[in-house]
Amino acid sequence: MKIIMLGAPGAGKGTQAKMIADQYSIPHISTGDIFRANIKNNTELGQKAKTYMDKGLLVPDELVVDLIMDRFKETDCKDGYVLDGFPRTIPQAEALDNALSAIGEKVDFAINVEVPDENIVTRMSGRRACVGCGATYHIAYNPPKAENICDRCGKDLVLRDDDKPETVQKRLSVYHEQTQPLIQYYEKKGVMKEVDGTVDMKDVFAAITAILGE
Ligand code: ADP
Ligand code: AMP
Repeated sequence: MKIIMLGAPGAGKGTQAKMIADQYSIPHISTGDIFRANIKNNTELGQKAKTYMDKGLLVPDELVVDLIMDRFKETDCKDGYVLDGFPRTIPQAEALDNALSAIGEKVDFAINVEVPDENIVTRMSGRRACVGCGATYHIAYNPPKAENICDRCGKDLVLRDDDKPETVQKRLSVYHEQTQPLIQYYEKKGVMKEVDGTVDMKDVFAAITAILGE
């Protein structure tokens, strides 16, 4: 099963993608997580990506497409995957379609997690990410057991640089301009599904499993 998560930054794509990956035993592939791991390890790719990410801009398509195509070659992708944060532009979606049709496959579901802009700022200013394992929390909606400490690995939780309010506004406008057109793109392909992302995360997940089936 090949699933794409769509939605504004902070809509809950990553939160739901992790649950989908567990439930359906497929890998969760987040291009944002891959870039952050590269930044942490100070790779050349990480240094390039950081200049865009810190400004709230998208990393150029060619860098992202090369990276994801390499990721698809890994054996854990053989039964599908849930993509979180890719594609984010029409050229990225076309690159994915071309790669899949070359092997006689296609995207099965594109799930749009719908959250209005006014809720997004609260979501992102309260998001905390673990510096160790990348797990995400929210100070009000999904707090860790001990303040600023990851439940899973015990490392510190931090506010992402690009979750600062001034960058969030930029990311939202980039989303509306460059990523939102993908909703129509996948509607035309007949795979677009929408869920209300403003309800409790368990209820969002229940709506998603109703779409994906058992
Ligand atoms: P995305 O991957 O779309 O950027 P995340 O999954 O990281 O978004 O979620 C953004 C923030 O909102 C996180 O702090 C997360 O804990 C919180 N969150 C996710 N889903 C919900 C929800 N349904 N209700 C309230 N908060 C949520
Ligand atoms: P995310 O963790 O998905 O919110 O992504 C964080 C940042 O990484 C984005 O704001 C972009 O700068 C960059 N990024 C992640 N995925 C992509 C993508 N598919 N295309 C371009 N930039 C991306």
